Amino acid sequence: MSQTVDVNGAVDQIYAIDQESCIRCASCSSIAPTIFHVGDDAAYILRQPLDEDEVDQCEAALGNCPTSAITATPKSSLVEITARS
Ligand code: SF4
Repeated sequence: MSQTVDVNGAVDQIYAIDQESCIRCASCSSIAPTIFHVGDDAAYILRQPLDEDEVDQCEAALGNCPTSAITATPKSSLVEITARS
């Protein structure tokens, strides 16, 4: 079982693409077409993975990206920003 999905099925990683590093090779979109899409200038994330299978696809895409443009950040390391009224 992937360690990026908890027992309730919640994904605990946020995937992102450094568009400056992307060379539009389309490896990610061929591995995980529901998550990654190659646009005119760079690849981008369509949506975050929803289940273990999609997380596995994201991890494969991350591992195969030739420029290491794909990153995965644990949600626990993100800072929540709330607006003050
Ligand atoms: S695999 Fe990496 S370099 Fe290739 S399109 Fe996806 S993000 Fe860009």
